[in-house]
Amino acid sequence: MSSSPAELVREFHRAFGLDARSTPTEVSPRLAAHRGELLAEEAAEVAEVSVSGPLDRLAHELADVVYVAYGTALVHGIDLDAVLAEIHRSNMTKLGPDGQVVRRADGKVLKGEHYETPDVSAVLRRQGWTPGGAA
Ligand SMILES: [Mg+2]
Repeated sequence: MSSSPAELVREFHRAFGLDARSTPTEVSPRLAAHRGELLAEEAAEVAEVSVSGPLDRLAHELADVVYVAYGTALVHGIDLDAVLAEIHRSNMTKLGPDGQVVRRADGKVLKGEHYETPDVSAVLRRQGWTPGGAA
């Protein structure tokens, strides 16, 4: 894929006249709710096919979730790639300097003593967000 998900989704929003912002912004409750519903619908479709498949349907629905998530970020003016990078940075600190990984019985990686929580607020502030919506 030559374009990033963010670029593809921006192209889609531009082509269809959908909202797109370049600075993190609180949007109207109506628009925010609409975006939340779209994402919930797609997440429900993933849940529906996660076990039963088929695999191509699962792949489709997973891509829909990512697409709608990027679209929702764009509607709110959030650079989601930067937020993802921060989440990744934080997640990698779950691995201690000793290389030890602590897992729960179901396989989920647990937070070790060197874990650093993601600072998403700082990422958004670097993108121009003013917490509290003050302009
Ligand atoms: Mg779908």
